[in-house]
Amino acid sequence: MAMRDSASCIFCRIARGEIPADIVHEAERLIAFRDVSPQAPEHILLIPKEHVPSVDHLTDPDAVLAGELLIAARDIARRLGVSDSGYRLVTNIGPDGGQSVGHLHLHLLAGRSLSWPPG
Ligand code: 5GP
Ligand code: ZN
Repeated sequence: MAMRDSASCIFCRIARGEIPADIVHEAERLIAFRDVSPQAPEHILLIPKEHVPSVDHLTDPDAVLAGELLIAARDIARRLGVSDSGYRLVTNIGPDGGQSVGHLHLHLLAGRSLSWPPG
């Protein structure tokens, strides 16, 4: 069975409260906090508390957890007041996806018009 926790993973350490983060939302199985290097006026990261390396590592029973992340993103967007102006949810996967932290996270980006396609 794949490892579902990591002592050294930076996002696991944030989830455990071992290193500080600007937390904007917490639920039983997920947490959301501000990105340390924001790429938009609002840049939030949503993560499962459990160590899942990426979307590619989700198992079928993780479907509820994956849905909880999306619903939490919707709620955070509403709380930030960006639901009408719009926002972007992104999850990078692996080297070609540009993933730099190996713990599944959704980026919620908002507060400016975002270009498409990504580079
Ligand atoms: P990725 O490149 O893996 O899609 O996104 C990782 C994100 O995590 C980056 O936007 C980066 O700025 C953010 N990040 C990396 N380390 C930390 C940290 O220690 N605290 C916070 N709040 N964000 C981090
Ligand atoms: Zn982790």
